[in-house]
Amino acid sequence: VITDPGGLAIGVDVGGTKTLGLVVGPSAQVLCELRRTTFQGQLRDGGARVVADLVALLEALHEEAGLSLGAHPIGVGLPGMVDRSGRLVYAPNLPSASSSSMLELLQEALGAPLSLENDANCAAVAEHVLGAGRGHGDLLMITLGTGVGGGVIHGGLLFRGGRGFAGELGHMVVEADGPACPCGARGCWERYVSGTGIERMARQATEEGRLEPGAAGASLRAAELASLARLGDDAARGIFESAGWWLARGLANLVGLFDPTCIVLGGGLSDAVEFMLPTIEAQLPPMLEGAALHPVVELHPAAFGERAGALGASLVARRAP
Ligand SMILES: [Zn+2]
Repeated sequence: VITDPGGLAIGVDVGGTKTLGLVVGPSAQVLCELRRTTFQGQLRDGGARVVADLVALLEALHEEAGLSLGAHPIGVGLPGMVDRSGRLVYAPNLPSASSSSMLELLQEALGAPLSLENDANCAAVAEHVLGAGRGHGDLLMITLGTGVGGGVIHGGLLFRGGRGFAGELGHMVVEADGPACPCGARGCWERYVSGTGIERMARQATEEGRLEPGAAGASLRAAELASLARLGDDAARGIFESAGWWLARGLANLVGLFDPTCIVLGGGLSDAVEFMLPTIEAQLPPMLEGAALHPVVELHPAAFGERAGALGASLVARRAP
């Protein structure tokens, strides 16, 4: 139970696989933390199950911290296209809530106001204001998880685009005939660099005999692959090097578009970023326009790791009118 509730805010990050809720103090310190599995089913319930799970998590979080609901700002980050009215217009990695009026449903079920934003936009705000991108007015945040999210800070502000959808970087096509994506396109960036993309590459490498089955073999989760890489497993490291090359390929396009001075890499796969970073650092500069003449773009792992989204959601809520 938190004894001094002054200046607190609540932040929740709904990932494609897990949902993280935080009670955040006035200097962004995490005071309380809860984690739940995200409902991934294909139910056609208009988001009812996702809303019920979120309300349960928020109630449990408030109870554990000894706070009353509605007394502190609440921000929620969602994986997908969140428009300015709080509608989750499209969410390939949260299918049952896709095209639901999430803000309305959540506020009604919770009986308290809250702020909604895209999850990676939240992470971008956190890393820009307090984290690895501090001092950079133009930065890109890339969140690697079940999918790939993006957040663009432009001129010191979150760049939201015409409807709020800017920064859906994971669905940038990097291979015209690449693997099918849940979004309906082929060869999306996230098919190569997300957790599911990395798992797909591991499976493929095993099938083609490039990876020993049973070593870093088939049907390993990306987190298990990261543990193997940490133990020095060459096959697992090779998969992350491939993912690192694909990351560099997509980032080179994005540097041309946005001219960031800094790129921050985080998300649910934050623990695996260290195995991809050396490849990106080596591969990205020669891919940039003007290559050797191009100014250095700083690359940093997220300071807040997989908590950046939830922390940013609390900052977004705190700034909401
Ligand atoms: Zn896609």
